[in-house]
Amino acid sequence: TPPSNAAPSAGIRLRPEIAALPAYRQGRAAAPDGFKLSSNENPYDPLPGVAEAVAAASDFNRYPDASALALREKLAERFGRTADEVHIGAGSVALVAQLILATSGPGDEVVYSWRSFEAYPGLVTVAGATSVQVPNRADHSHDLVAMAAAVTDATRLVIVCSPNNPTGTIVAAEEFSAFLADIPEDVLVVLDEAYAEFVTEPRAVDGVPLLARHQNLVVLRTFSKAYGLAGLRVGYALGPVAVLDAARATAIPLSVTGQASAAAIASLDAEDELLERVRHIIARRDAVYAGLLEQGWDAPKPSGNFIWLPTGEHTTAAAERLFEAGLVVRAFAPEGIRVSIGEEESVEKLLQISEEIVRSLP
Ligand code: PMP
Repeated sequence: TPPSNAAPSAGIRLRPEIAALPAYRQGRAAAPDGFKLSSNENPYDPLPGVAEAVAAASDFNRYPDASALALREKLAERFGRTADEVHIGAGSVALVAQLILATSGPGDEVVYSWRSFEAYPGLVTVAGATSVQVPNRADHSHDLVAMAAAVTDATRLVIVCSPNNPTGTIVAAEEFSAFLADIPEDVLVVLDEAYAEFVTEPRAVDGVPLLARHQNLVVLRTFSKAYGLAGLRVGYALGPVAVLDAARATAIPLSVTGQASAAAIASLDAEDELLERVRHIIARRDAVYAGLLEQGWDAPKPSGNFIWLPTGEHTTAAAERLFEAGLVVRAFAPEGIRVSIGEEESVEKLLQISEEIVRSLP
């Protein structure tokens, strides 16, 4: 019998674990005078030069370059690697999917912290592998000691997310090095650094320099957040050629468009301007966090372009209150609420409602 929550399948025999899998859920649309703070997007409009580069990539009667070589070469130069040691995906979420498929199938285990990025569990299920979720520590950060201890002979992949979505916590460099030393060399470690450019915490891990010493490490980054290209879908993986080749073998061919590559290249060329915007978002984030601490919130220090409000069992009601005030946020009941750092004009409203909420918490 099919699982009870499976949709009617017109008699088609679906994989039961897929029939039971919820589709990716996207935040609600904001009211015209409201703010969409639910997807950790960049609030700035695209730079004119980047928009022009996209428009100039007009030969879309042709397929794109399958390996996005021009972008790989540009990233390779920047990170002191060869172009083969860079792999481009249609968003870094595509790269997460590929690395899971490349390493893990039925009977294999994928270890990651929980809560972390919502896409991990579904992608593990799609691969037919088994998720092993290690609870975050009480301070909402990864428990790397427990994650290393969760590795068994069946483990093929460990995913570490720093800064962690949705809690915003970082993994310390020192802790990560000790963790890598504990992981068997035939188990792949993926360090998901989707929010790397927003990190100001000096203790935080930077995966890139570690690549030279670890053949079982892949670092993921994206153009979606700091570079503001979420709608174009482009992210990259840095790591050993053998692992990236396996990821390439699982990829849906030709899914990185020429427009996405052109936008990413133009964004790297305009990096000074884009990183100036990132500095504004960081300043806004730190000001919001200072305001929250003053209001009495026990919130973890944010290192991405978002903050985490630990609202516990009051999460749904608190998110509804924010929604009524025009702020669309991401609720993870019964744990907390993730709020993206968006437009400057959203800050005052956010701090006004957060104060109401914290006062109403027991
Ligand atoms: N990793 C993390 C931790 C994320 O939060 C996100 C986006 N929400 C992604 C990966 C994927 O981003 P994209 O596919 O847009 O690069």
